[in-house]
Amino acid sequence: MVATEAVEREADGYHEAGHVTMTLCLGGTINAEGVEIDERQYCRVHFVYPRGDSVKREFFQVLPDMAGWRAEHLHHGLGTPRSDRKSAELEYIIWAVRDEASRHPDDEIEDGDDFNVIREMLLHNPDATDEELCVRYERYSEVCYALLRDSTIQTANAAVARALLKAGRLNFADVLGAIGGSADTLKEAAQRVMDQVGDPRD
Ligand SMILES: [Zn+2]
Repeated sequence: MVATEAVEREADGYHEAGHVTMTLCLGGTINAEGVEIDERQYCRVHFVYPRGDSVKREFFQVLPDMAGWRAEHLHHGLGTPRSDRKSAELEYIIWAVRDEASRHPDDEIEDGDDFNVIREMLLHNPDATDEELCVRYERYSEVCYALLRDSTIQTANAAVARALLKAGRLNFADVLGAIGGSADTLKEAAQRVMDQVGDPRD
């Protein structure tokens, strides 16, 4: 493996660990396929909430979606933090997601965490203006970074990343094993942070 491949793989490890760790913080699980980084970068999360509760749905989807890049960025410091609502990239993503409605159902749509974030926000609030979406994105990003910077959460994220880099793939039991057997301390840490920074849903 050449050096850049190793660096990219490590970034993938922290990225997927970010999705997993944030999911555990919020009381969710990962599905039976687990989380993996080699042949594909894969992680699907699962939360239980009442059907039709778009506020909860947005919260449970957006924070784990956002946590991938942010955990990766906190680890290597490369690229932009994606924390600014006034970015051309975010404007493009909002435009592209809005444009999906006018396309043929068979057309391929753009894949990526930030595309999913904006889709979720529009599902929750279909009448949101671009400005409102950008403000909401920035607020969620701020809360996501506050959570990922918490020392308990950061330590757990690094432990999941290391286990993932070693094995290439983890199931839910492996993930819990990597962080000491339970997500309880992560949930408590997340609650502490949210009490300080406020809930992005408010
Ligand atoms: Zn991701």
